[in-house]
Amino acid sequence: MIDGMKIALEEAQKAFKEDEVPVGACIIQGDQLISVGHNRREQKQQIISHAEIEAIQEASRVLGSWRLEGCDLYVTLEPCLMCAGAIIQARIRKLFYGAKDPKTGVAGSVLDLFCKKLFNHSVEVYSGIYEDRCSQILRQYFKKKREIGEVAELVEGARLEIE
Ligand SMILES: [Zn+2]
Repeated sequence: MIDGMKIALEEAQKAFKEDEVPVGACIIQGDQLISVGHNRREQKQQIISHAEIEAIQEASRVLGSWRLEGCDLYVTLEPCLMCAGAIIQARIRKLFYGAKDPKTGVAGSVLDLFCKKLFNHSVEVYSGIYEDRCSQILRQYFKKKREIGEVAELVEGARLEIE
């Protein structure tokens, strides 16, 4: 059995090394790893380049379909509104996430877009997977930013900056 969150954490580590807010994701179908992705917003200067969107776009390329039926998405941080929309639109089966994001998370924190049957597709959500490791890497990132005197803007995970 593939450990999806471990793979997502490895992706978060890549983002960290690329000086991006360290969030990683992957998509698994059955026992197959379909795609990985990590936050690349700064490199691409694209607001949509969150880890989840990167992984969803890659999975669609791999599978040749925008419908990711039977696919499960693992992400180290609770999804934002934009990513939650993409997850629902892509027909993701199960969402597994690590750290909560009280500022922008919509899988239980600010809102819960997944709990009610609001949409034509519902996603099963599992939270708190490797929560400590997922939030620790974000803390390390913001600590580093403070040390080099860069004030991190209010981005996803930014609340971890002040913890
Ligand atoms: Zn997002």
